[in-house]
Amino acid sequence: MPTPTAHDEVLQRIRAAAAGRPVELLAVSKTRSAEEVVALARRGQRRFGENYVQEAVAKRRAVAALAPDLDLEWHLIGRLQTNKARDAAGFDWVEAVDRPRLADALAAARPEGRPPLNVLIQVNPDGEPGKAGCAPDELDALAAHVAALPRLRLRGLMAIPAPAEDMRVRAASFRTLAGLFERLRGRHPDIDTLSMGMSDDFETAIAEGATRVRIGTALFGPRPPRPSPEDAHA
Ligand SMILES: *Cc1c(COP(=O)(O)O)cnc(C)c1O
Repeated sequence: MPTPTAHDEVLQRIRAAAAGRPVELLAVSKTRSAEEVVALARRGQRRFGENYVQEAVAKRRAVAALAPDLDLEWHLIGRLQTNKARDAAGFDWVEAVDRPRLADALAAARPEGRPPLNVLIQVNPDGEPGKAGCAPDELDALAAHVAALPRLRLRGLMAIPAPAEDMRVRAASFRTLAGLFERLRGRHPDIDTLSMGMSDDFETAIAEGATRVRIGTALFGPRPPRPSPEDAHA
């Protein structure tokens, strides 16, 4: 279970790094139990992120059964296969849209009666091969595609920079992303979210302009290894 102090400490570190700017905490609850989610939610944490659609659907259901009074916001942050779009479209945010066909599938599957699905485009800023995310030079076209779909709402960018040991190298990646975000905002003035930074680099990401950090380990402790082929992209 998360120790009470871990959440407080992370919030405090975010506040210190943000220096007055609002920065959101997305609690990454992949591999964590519904009970752990409820415990953190009872401490006031509202946004939760999951990587695997099936796990996330089951966990949402379990959390709702345990604590029907909680009003949580659920984000999908993992690489998404197009054939999972139907389940994914019922979430509050999808942060890993990286191709037009996935955007189309999500738009088609977004349930009637819900507001447009909040979408972040995932960018692969360091051009790492095999990694999710569109190339920076594909970003404008993909953003225009998403913005033209009425059942989606383009909110900004998400990225996972290469895990360089040298924090200056990571800072440079975060800065590149912040530049892409600002440029995109020139064309899409409503976008408001730059999701970057995880447990081991979130203060650096915030210093470079993150508006949301996605944190698992620093809140919940180390994750148990997960015997799934999907883990390759987590
Ligand atoms: C697992 C994961 C995180 C959280 O990673 P930690 O290092 O545990 O904070 C953030 N973003 C994505 C996309 C992830 O898959």
